[in-house]
Amino acid sequence: MAEERRITLGMKACIKCKYLVEDKEIICPNCGNNTFTKNWSGVIILYKPEQSALAQMLNLKKPGKYAIKVKGVV
Ligand SMILES: [Zn+2]
Repeated sequence: MAEERRITLGMKACIKCKYLVEDKEIICPNCGNNTFTKNWSGVIILYKPEQSALAQMLNLKKPGKYAIKVKGVV
């Protein structure tokens, strides 16, 4: 878990698709949403969504980092 935190320090999660972006980003590059939360936990790092059963299950199409849990909409 400490390792995950180090990788994703200062990142925020899109509340819609859970895509993780740097704090400075305004628009989610995955779904175009502009609402993010810092209240997230766990991370999935996805390289080849088309080859990942987990990605298919979660309907993740874009390579990148995703939060596993995103809490609360403000
Ligand atoms: Zn998104």
